Amino acid sequence: MAKFIFVTGGVVSSLGKGLTSAAIGLLLERRGLSVGIQKLDPYINVDPGTMSPYQHGEVYVTDDGAETDLDLGHYERYTSSPIDRTSNYTAGRIYLSVIEKERRGEYLGSTVQVVPHITNEIKAAILKMAARDLDVVITEVGGTVGDIESLPFLEAIRQFALEQGRERTMFIHLTLVPFMRASGELKTKPSQHSVAQLRQIGIQPDVLVCRTERALDEDLRAKLSLFCNVPKEAVIEERDVQSSIYEVPVMLQENGLDDIVVRRLQLAAEDIKLDDWKEMIATIRSMSEEVVIGVCGKYINLNDSYKSIYEALDHAGIANRTRVRIRKISAEDVEREGPEDLLRGIHALLVPGGFGDRGIEGKIQAVRYARENGIPFFGICLGLQMAVIEFARNVAGMKGANSTEFDRDSAFPVIDFLPDQANLDRKGGTMRLGAYPCTLRDDSLASRLYGTRAISERHRHRFEVNNRWRPALEKHGLSVSGTWAEKDLVEIIELPSHPWFIGVQFHPEFKSKPLSPHPIFRGFVRAALARKSGLLGQKVEAAVERGSGSR
Ligand code: GLN
Repeated sequence: MAKFIFVTGGVVSSLGKGLTSAAIGLLLERRGLSVGIQKLDPYINVDPGTMSPYQHGEVYVTDDGAETDLDLGHYERYTSSPIDRTSNYTAGRIYLSVIEKERRGEYLGSTVQVVPHITNEIKAAILKMAARDLDVVITEVGGTVGDIESLPFLEAIRQFALEQGRERTMFIHLTLVPFMRASGELKTKPSQHSVAQLRQIGIQPDVLVCRTERALDEDLRAKLSLFCNVPKEAVIEERDVQSSIYEVPVMLQENGLDDIVVRRLQLAAEDIKLDDWKEMIATIRSMSEEVVIGVCGKYINLNDSYKSIYEALDHAGIANRTRVRIRKISAEDVEREGPEDLLRGIHALLVPGGFGDRGIEGKIQAVRYARENGIPFFGICLGLQMAVIEFARNVAGMKGANSTEFDRDSAFPVIDFLPDQANLDRKGGTMRLGAYPCTLRDDSLASRLYGTRAISERHRHRFEVNNRWRPALEKHGLSVSGTWAEKDLVEIIELPSHPWFIGVQFHPEFKSKPLSPHPIFRGFVRAALARKSGLLGQKVEAAVERGSGSR
């Protein structure tokens, strides 16, 4: 029977609750336990799929096609927890399910209420994760204690502990201990208030994890312990990390968190094995080589919008013992100023996914610059589509080539709706989502990188390379090196005449882990290194027939 850990947060949002939950998961796995992690999100959207990346950051996609919170990315990068639809429930999804049941008459006779109907539905969501044979289920409750939306979730986990037994459940509360510059001291009051609020709801935390920029001294620890009613050894310091977020689990382990959890839940745990993880951190700290990778996109000012991409680049950097410096390049700036100044000096270019036409001409110009100057190029989803449009216009002579997402009247709609997508009028959860198999062409960059011909990757898109124009594009030197056999859809394109140029219709960034970096990202950073040291070809446009269009 599984044991349960609930992670709540107080004082402010963005404390890194997802990261902390993932780190706890990793520590328990490294003590020989099986772990499942899930997140309960208090907002009303049924999933984050229709939210702007400005609001919500990246939408993380699971194998089974759920559009979820980006914290699931942390879970998957740190642990081998099953990650799918049962890993993320929003208030909207819970309410929708209750309302659908009500309409079907499943509550006939009763008044449907937050308690018990909504709280029952929340508890069922937690048990669904536990239904797999797991030792521990970690449930992160999104939002901050004190939010109106959080209440039903906190009430549900209170009931859950009562019903499942307090000895099988534990509450970990993440809080901020701010440093006041004026008085030069750390302050405990916000944590006291936040725990008081939790206790008012009926939840007594077992552990207080304190985010802080300075070390907590004994007095402060004693004060937090006394006022928050938590044993002193369960006041755990989580200092801001120096070089990488992958230091968090090691810090928490050194501060005794895994021992407290194991003891409190009486888990049959082994000694911790973290050597490979610590070795990785030592590598990160010692890396002296560096490459500059340009990321040209629309959501450039926000770290969270391309979260998994930046993480995957870091993983690939570690594998190549190279620090990856990201140069964030606004696609709209490229549109206004041209690519030369903005892209000069980068060792490789990545164009990430995206929606809507803002900045697309800038992205297309950036791809052209990379293609013509032999700069390693990696296009993801919209990035592939940009590369195909650029090639169609500037190499295959298809003037005005475009995607029907941006120009319905283009004479060369080289990117068009996927079959079945054109007539959809519902936006939520209707894209091509989740894992699909892809067959790689022999002797392609892709098959060399993956070292196999059969792969599976995750998707989230409505548009796709238009097969009608494929022969014309191929004639001019664009190679389709990966397809979904069942519908003959283009999944990967390459330019064999270029030293390193690949576009993928899927999102490989979701499957990269720090200790097993994704092969394309790994190869991409290697190519950037080669470019830096002058080992990659320089000018390559001569090799492709420029401007001689068919049609
Ligand atoms: N907007 C494009 C499409 O829907 C690309 C999507 C993406 O980059 N995730 O196909």
